Amino acid sequence: MEREKPRLILKGLGKDYDVNKKPFPALKSVSLAFPKKGFVSILGPSGCGKTTLLNIVGGLDRASRGELIVDGRSTSSYKDRDWDAYRNKRLGFVFQNYNLLDYQTALQNVELPLLLSGMAPSKRKQAALEALREVGLEEVSGKKPNELSGGQMQRVAIARALAGKPEIVLADEPTGALDSRSSEIVAGLLKKASERCLVVLVTHNEALARRYSDRIIKMEDGEIVSDSDPLPIEGESFVPSEEGRTAMSLFAAIKNSCRNVVAKWGRTLVVSFSSCIGIVGVGLV
Ligand code: ADP
Ligand code: MG
Repeated sequence: MEREKPRLILKGLGKDYDVNKKPFPALKSVSLAFPKKGFVSILGPSGCGKTTLLNIVGGLDRASRGELIVDGRSTSSYKDRDWDAYRNKRLGFVFQNYNLLDYQTALQNVELPLLLSGMAPSKRKQAALEALREVGLEEVSGKKPNELSGGQMQRVAIARALAGKPEIVLADEPTGALDSRSSEIVAGLLKKASERCLVVLVTHNEALARRYSDRIIKMEDGEIVSDSDPLPIEGESFVPSEEGRTAMSLFAAIKNSCRNVVAKWGRTLVVSFSSCIGIVGVGLV
């Protein structure tokens, strides 16, 4: 039987950081393939390059060498707007510290990526509520993050990651700050998501990874040292093509800006005041 084509292929990916003016290889040469569905965990000691790897796969950082191939197409010649489309349309992110906006409600936080991907407002609210329902938190949709527990905040972050029906969910230590019960709930939600998309979980919690994942990859010093179910890395990449565009309608952009001005009125006043001084200064000169 022909095996399904991988969603992602990483060919010799490496990343150097400048440390004391010398290149330090945080990632040496990582080659992996990920399927279209399933739960893959990446384990490894602190500093071994897990976050660096996940950020490159998620288009949040660029590799120093090697190639990332998405659905058979190389990202080598992606322009900024291709990366934006890749992140906004295909990916969902979950972080250890939730990364929720404190001045927005749970519902508005979940709606944000849908807004960025250009979904119509009526559909957006429905999709966000549906995602909150899936993580069992519809009743807190009107609450702000400081009114929620850590476990609830992470579930809102998972709803935000899943609301746009991504093909890939990248979770970087999502249970790192949670108690064991909340960790199980979070891992269970990611497991359920992995029935319809690829979930890549970076974690320190080996016991949890073993209970929930289909495959465990171990890293040390910027390299893969073991892989419980390696996928063959085959096939050359096609000619790179555009990822399409993501859109935020003008109306949505204005509405979001107004919301931010209201939520951060203090900052807005200071910025307006400083700008006035600057403009008057230039005028006087
Ligand atoms: P992990 O997530 O496995 O803990 P990271 O990917 O965060 O590891 O980091 C891998 C290595 O790269 C570490 O030695 C870290 O200190 C280094 N590193 C990460 N980010 C930077 C950076 N922006 N500048 C310099 N070194 C970095
Ligand atoms: Mg990390």
